[in-house]
Amino acid sequence: MIRQAVLEYDHDDDALDRLGELIGGRRVHVLRGRHGYPVVERLLPSLKAYPATSFAGECTDREADRVDLDGADVLVAIGGGKLVDTAKLVAVRNGVPLIVIPTLASNCAAFTPLSVVYREDGSYDRYDVFRVIIERVIVDARVIASSPYDYYRAGVIDTVAKFYEARYLSGDNSTVAGVDAGIALSKQCHRLLEIELTETAFRSYSEGTRYAVDHVLAIGGAVGGFGDAGTRVAVAHAVHNALSEFETTHAFLHGDKVGFGLLVQESLRRSPDVAVLRSWLEQVEAPTTLDALGLSADDIPRLVASVMRETTLQQLPEPLDSDYLKIIFENLQKTIYR
Ligand SMILES: [Zn+2]
Repeated sequence: MIRQAVLEYDHDDDALDRLGELIGGRRVHVLRGRHGYPVVERLLPSLKAYPATSFAGECTDREADRVDLDGADVLVAIGGGKLVDTAKLVAVRNGVPLIVIPTLASNCAAFTPLSVVYREDGSYDRYDVFRVIIERVIVDARVIASSPYDYYRAGVIDTVAKFYEARYLSGDNSTVAGVDAGIALSKQCHRLLEIELTETAFRSYSEGTRYAVDHVLAIGGAVGGFGDAGTRVAVAHAVHNALSEFETTHAFLHGDKVGFGLLVQESLRRSPDVAVLRSWLEQVEAPTTLDALGLSADDIPRLVASVMRETTLQQLPEPLDSDYLKIIFENLQKTIYR
């Protein structure tokens, strides 16, 4: 099935200035995050007038239930990926449309009709797919250019992964139109390898940065929206999930762990792209060894077992060879060879 959630996507130097016109005479409730919200309010002081809930930080059922819209006609979500996931749950449960103002360029939550839901103890619970109406995603260059660079950098890695994971699942093209559209968009995501990924380029908001932000926030989300099971996550995200079971990796961003997972995935398929990926990840200062992620050789058996479990759940086209997976992890323990 093809699923999209967004009616309008407005990425501009003054995109925030059109929020009032979009809201019109409707009653608004705002869900606001801790870090990015003050920047948005400084640019648009009229936001202060709306009733608001401050986001507690995790997308849980309890958090979604806590947001009391009190009869509002539209919900405005201002924050990062977990806040946006929570806002989508709230909008669906209350039958109101959503307007999203991302404060980080790190994920495609604003463009996908699903939420990743966690339990109260912080562990992963499930993801819900639903029919949410996102009237507009408002990407204001002034907000994004002043957001943390590391989140953007990790978001670009996670977006490049769309290409490799789609290819892993479906190859270079498909006779199913939606899957083929997803693959085509994922090829665009692959081009982010060519942009200048530095803090200087990000702060100056170069043309390449603008192109990358659009892919991180929108096009990357549309890959799964078109391709569904044919272009969803594959081994790289399974490795991410397995790594996340280790305390030492908690300090690393999602995209950094996915980037390492890409090295594992492409090594498994004996792809000539491994070398290119590794040098790109090194260049953008992302971890490329287990050592850098704080894991030792002793952790490898548990890591292998966890990836095997994850990929069985994912129902990949072919089961993985656990012996070969173990050798790959051993080779990625420390980068001594080239
Ligand atoms: Zn991801």
